[in-house]
Amino acid sequence: MNIQVRCQFQYEDIPLEPEQIEEFVLIKPVLFVLSAPSGAGKSTLIRRVRTILPDLFYSISCTTRLPRKGEEEAVDYYFVDKRRFVEMIGNDGFLEWKEVHGAMYGTPVEPIRKELQNGRRCIMDIDVNGALDVFQKIGEAIGIFIMPPDLGTLEQRLRQRGSDTEESIRIRLQNAQKELQFEAIFHYKIVNADLDSATTELVEIIRRESEVPENV
Ligand code: ADP
Ligand code: 5GP
Repeated sequence: MNIQVRCQFQYEDIPLEPEQIEEFVLIKPVLFVLSAPSGAGKSTLIRRVRTILPDLFYSISCTTRLPRKGEEEAVDYYFVDKRRFVEMIGNDGFLEWKEVHGAMYGTPVEPIRKELQNGRRCIMDIDVNGALDVFQKIGEAIGIFIMPPDLGTLEQRLRQRGSDTEESIRIRLQNAQKELQFEAIFHYKIVNADLDSATTELVEIIRRESEVPENV
């Protein structure tokens, strides 16, 4: 099933009124799987892309880690305790789940199933091992790997975010080296050096893979 949505096309150098830049386009229900080492900029990129493509459904994961400053329940994550998480595993409530950086993270299966059935394009932000599981279960999913320009920049971003303890930063940097080796399992790679360029690249990939050309 394809659905018709109103998308905002942004042209940086053409000043248009909002009503002039909205068009109707046909959308296929594609699942986009975004992965990256922690601190590479996934959350920032997804936040920006969702303002440009407001119809894109974002899969909110469950996690046992504590909320960071500014994070909201049911917006960034569903923050649950370990008992509830294990209960959800037992009820087959997750499309996939993994232990990452010492906490548990899982993708609730029902919202994804429902949104794809309704013809909506979806995006999820999960770790590389979770992505492998999703690619096995949903062969048509499109994987996008976000890379930091280099490990020094990654460390700088983790510190500048100011939300992780020294120990957590150490674990995240150690894991980053392993995560970067998974790049080849993804269909696309984006180096997030300049935020505007990386956002544009991500929007273009999503459009290319999910928008049905008018004459099809
Ligand atoms: P992730 O979700 O991958 O863990 P975040 O989106 O939280 O990463 O980004 C980590 C930090 O890096 C944040 O403080 C964010 O503002 C910053 N950041 C993200 N992308 C860029 C970029 N291209 N240039 C500079 N800083 C960035
Ligand atoms: P953070 O604690 O920085 O929000 O996320 C840590 C890591 O967990 C990131 O790599 C993020 O992509 C991953 N993650 C978030 N949600 C899920 C999920 O539902 N499943 C899996 N496997 N990983 C997730």
